[in-house]
Amino acid sequence: MMICLGIEGTAHSIGVGVIKDMRGSCHVLSNLIKAYQPQKGGIHPREAANHHASHIADLISDSVRKAGVDFADIDLISFSQGPGLGPCLRTAATAARALALTLEKPLIGVNHCVAHLEIGRGTVNGCRDPVLLYVSGANTQVIAFAEGKYRVFGETLDVGIGNCLDKFGRQMDLGFPCGPKIEELAKKATQYLGLPYSIKGMDLAFSGLLTAAEAYMRQGKRLEDVCYSLQETTFAMLTEVTERAMAHTEKQEVLLGGGVASNKRLREMVQIMANDRGADFFVPSRDVCVDNGAMIAWLGFLMYDSGVRMSLDDSLINQRFRTDMVEVTWRD
Ligand code: AMP
Ligand code: MG
Repeated sequence: MMICLGIEGTAHSIGVGVIKDMRGSCHVLSNLIKAYQPQKGGIHPREAANHHASHIADLISDSVRKAGVDFADIDLISFSQGPGLGPCLRTAATAARALALTLEKPLIGVNHCVAHLEIGRGTVNGCRDPVLLYVSGANTQVIAFAEGKYRVFGETLDVGIGNCLDKFGRQMDLGFPCGPKIEELAKKATQYLGLPYSIKGMDLAFSGLLTAAEAYMRQGKRLEDVCYSLQETTFAMLTEVTERAMAHTEKQEVLLGGGVASNKRLREMVQIMANDRGADFFVPSRDVCVDNGAMIAWLGFLMYDSGVRMSLDDSLINQRFRTDMVEVTWRD
């Protein structure tokens, strides 16, 4: 049995989680998160990193206390090595290195996107080999395991779905984050307004659709109807690409991950698609679905347990760390 502490810091959230492995499944002992909220506009990487730096020490000690363990009980430190915003990644990595050196424990850097998938397999009963629809602020990817690697079957060509919703909401002064507000407004819609449906191959593009939605607002259309149409169109695109990845890989499970997975309408659409295919649909509990330290801790454990070792020199961050760059040594 191993206890691992993971530090997540790719974007707006800094999180520290402590997990214990229980014969191949993940037991979360603690999982604390602090999210940076920009005063106005989008995330400023340097300000987000300052936010993370000011909270990380307390988060580490609170998370260890909440887990009911001592620092001496921790066997491994892991951190999100990428992809993400440089200053944020550097802050989390620096804290992880310092902690590993102080405790004289091994250090493992992990890929954030793969962690979203592995925490589903580790915590959700029955979830073994899913196609992951990973929908967050900055990232939108459809990921599945094939021939030794996690491969990206489709992804956004411009902004992430969460950023697309947040950008629209910001124009409408909905406050940050806008996803949940758009979801509420959409429930009061009375009509669907056509928006560009842009899937190119297996990839998605959201910026044209965003421009069209903003144009509807200038024409005086109802905000509720535009919110509804934004959701229906983007979620249909996401569901279509996910379904095609499932058909291609012949997988019988679909897993949601990322902040936008909280959206009930997205869940419903993906669930309908899964039911139609006779496949299983899974969503991890909210605390491990959003960016969090426990998923980083869990992937760190899986890698370490399968024999991966990292020196300090290997622990440099990688802002463009691709999902398929990871050598998957812990499963087949
Ligand atoms: P993450 O980057 O994974 O932490 O997710 C943050 C993103 O999730 C932000 O862009 C939010 O607007 C979005 N989000 C959170 N809750 C919802 C929701 N209920 N519906 C749509 N988007 C959401
Ligand atoms: Mg994420």
